[in-house]
Amino acid sequence: MKTLRMAEIAHVAVVALLLMMTVSDAAPGLNITSYYSPKNAQRPVRDRTDYIILHTTEGSKKGSLSKVYRNGEANYFVDEQGRVYRIIDKRKVALHCGTSMWNGRRNIDLFSVGIEVVGYHNKDITSAQYRALRILLAELKRIFRVPDERVLTHSMVAYGEPNRWHRKPHRGRKRCGMLFAKTSVRSKIGLGKAPAYDPDVRAGRLVNADEYLANMLYGRGRDSTTMGKNIISHGRSAWDIAGDDHDKPGTIYVFPDGRQLRGNEVADWRKIPTGTKVVSAEPDMVERDGIVLVGSTGCSAKELIGKACDRDDTYYFLPDGVLKSGRELLPAEQNKIPPGTRILVGYQLGGRITNMKSAFDICGAAWNATTTQYMFPDGILRHGGEVNERTIPKNTLVFFK
Ligand SMILES: [Zn+2]
Repeated sequence: MKTLRMAEIAHVAVVALLLMMTVSDAAPGLNITSYYSPKNAQRPVRDRTDYIILHTTEGSKKGSLSKVYRNGEANYFVDEQGRVYRIIDKRKVALHCGTSMWNGRRNIDLFSVGIEVVGYHNKDITSAQYRALRILLAELKRIFRVPDERVLTHSMVAYGEPNRWHRKPHRGRKRCGMLFAKTSVRSKIGLGKAPAYDPDVRAGRLVNADEYLANMLYGRGRDSTTMGKNIISHGRSAWDIAGDDHDKPGTIYVFPDGRQLRGNEVADWRKIPTGTKVVSAEPDMVERDGIVLVGSTGCSAKELIGKACDRDDTYYFLPDGVLKSGRELLPAEQNKIPPGTRILVGYQLGGRITNMKSAFDICGAAWNATTTQYMFPDGILRHGGEVNERTIPKNTLVFFK
């Protein structure tokens, strides 16, 4: 066997070094650690990478990181201290967009890197997060040659299939990552150009179902320099500030006289005086992919999900493994939902998978929809985008919309 000469060895070393330099995301100044999901090994490598998608967790680090890790729901996760976790290899498919479309192309997970940022769609992030994102995005843009206008927010690409409120496929299913459309925020994370309009709404493939969101993504809203401007005024309603969360218990209204009401306690929205401050409570729950995860405080079912709490299409997965519908929950249980409970609202129980009955037999084409939920015998909930019809274990319970 021929031995390598010194010059050849040096050449090989230089090539290897160059290769490492061009593919590594470990840039100077970035606090990055590998925290690979158990799903990482089985995920396929993407054929193309045309987008980088930014998300906000809408909840605290603790619950979000464990869920993102468990299900492989992002390539990267950035906490409040600016620490970056690698969850799914940057070249592999992470499940972060759900039902998605951009410029006529669907299933954006197959063409994008996903970054989860701990925070909320309408709140400023920490300076450590700004710094980390600036470095991380610079590396990813360079590695995958993604121009600034293809660094998008989840809310830009998510869309909803027709449902009881919208007869047509529609944009506005999620507000996730909305702040990353703001001109001031983009400049702080090193992004210049942003998409000027929604290509799928313009082409008529989707209808716009969230005016507020559209204004924040493409209209005048994105150019306002104040972040989280949270005072109610004549031009600024509770809806403008808190959106879907305006009537949730996690939103608190502090009136000019100091009195406070939770969103679910407001009876007449026209009677909220101007000058009222809208603040978010420490989250008692996190909602993701339609699943409500109950946090540490043990609120009542009504506080958590409002009027849906005792309906028979609401399902509670109690931490001791017991499943109950809203109607089956005892009054004592209604009053204090234990931390760790997972809740599905507005679902139909399709029954169990057996040798004779597949997921498709139970819910048809919805078997692989991200709104369909599977309770595996191991107690883990997986949505339709995460399961393989042939390998779903027997006895898995199917819930669909
Ligand atoms: Zn998202």
